[in-house]
Amino acid sequence: MLFQFSEEQLMIKQAARDFAVNECLPGVIERDELQKFPKEQVLKLADLGFLGMMVDPKYGGAGMDTVSYVLAMEEISKIDASVSVVMSVNNSLVCFGLQEYGSEEQKQKYLKRLAAGEIIGAFCLSEPEAGSDATSQHTTAEDKGDHYLVNGTKNWITNGPQSDTLILFAMTDPAKKAKGVSAFIVETRFPGVEIGKDENKLGIRASGTCTISFNNVKVPVGNRIGGEGEVKLQIGIHTSVRRDGPAAGPNKVAAAAPTRAGASRSCRPDTPCRSTPDTQPARGCGSPCRRSASPRRGNGGGRTRRLG
Ligand SMILES: Cc1cc2nc3c(=O)[nH]c(=O)nc-3n(C[C@H](O)[C@H](O)[C@H](O)COP(=O)(O)OP(=O)(O)OC[C@H]3O[C@@H](n4cnc5c(N)ncnc54)[C@H](O)[C@@H]3O)c2cc1C
Repeated sequence: MLFQFSEEQLMIKQAARDFAVNECLPGVIERDELQKFPKEQVLKLADLGFLGMMVDPKYGGAGMDTVSYVLAMEEISKIDASVSVVMSVNNSLVCFGLQEYGSEEQKQKYLKRLAAGEIIGAFCLSEPEAGSDATSQHTTAEDKGDHYLVNGTKNWITNGPQSDTLILFAMTDPAKKAKGVSAFIVETRFPGVEIGKDENKLGIRASGTCTISFNNVKVPVGNRIGGEGEVKLQIGIHTSVRRDGPAAGPNKVAAAAPTRAGASRSCRPDTPCRSTPDTQPARGCGSPCRRSASPRRGNGGGRTRRLG
């Protein structure tokens, strides 16, 4: 079987490469060392349409295919894994789930803004005692008629400190175990949502990761994604099929590591770059960096509101 990238896919790969070299490389080490969230870079990602790459343009997304998304993730991960993990969570774990399983009302209210990068999303599944085995989680969502009352704690939430909108998994019927888990959209401004302090991580330090607690949080019934207990499939899709982006990131971080170790600390925005498509830009680069053309096709282009 002959497998070739289409012209459009190659154009997106190049645009991502240009973005990474021109916008992410300057200051990447400093941001990592200081745990400084890459706010400017994420705002520019939104302008490029990279925060809702696979979302239908009618919901403000760029309407691209998964291959294009993975190519873009790879290029950005080679240079700045913190920027790429922000992008990956918003695309794979938040926008994808909402597009697949959200109601039309939820898409209009949340997906459009997430895909345009006006707001940033996070995915809240893991707990102190529930990582790989997500069905043993303790967070509960009690049916109170017009709303659910949510209590519990989620750990290691990427984008948590910067996010406005959370996809939250909680037990609506603990006795049913795996079949008693449901998904909800929770706004971080809802009373009772408590964002913890940023974790001091070993890698991807510029991206935010934190604990989020839910203390008697009232979540409107209309914010439940799908029916009660219909979440098993969603978890499967989120954590396996939609791990394409999250997998593309670490893969390329590892691939670029040998070059990065000796190179990037001396690279500066005013230093031309002689990097090859598969390496980090190197010390003393010889060819000028180029500006990228935006691949955005949708009608988004909003500004991320609350970052870092
Ligand atoms: C930087 C970072 C960002 C993260 N971001 C998010 C996020 O945004 N949202 C979120 O929900 N979570 C997030 N997580 C949590 C992450 O998804 C969990 O760490 C992961 O699910 C593993 O859970 P755990 O750490 O509790 O490990 P465990 O579940 O305790 O697993 C430890 C090891 O045991 C193995 N194992 C577990 N159960 C079995 C079994 N039954 N049989 C055989 N082997 C088994 C696992 O494969 C693993 O190798 C993040 C974690 C990190 C480090």
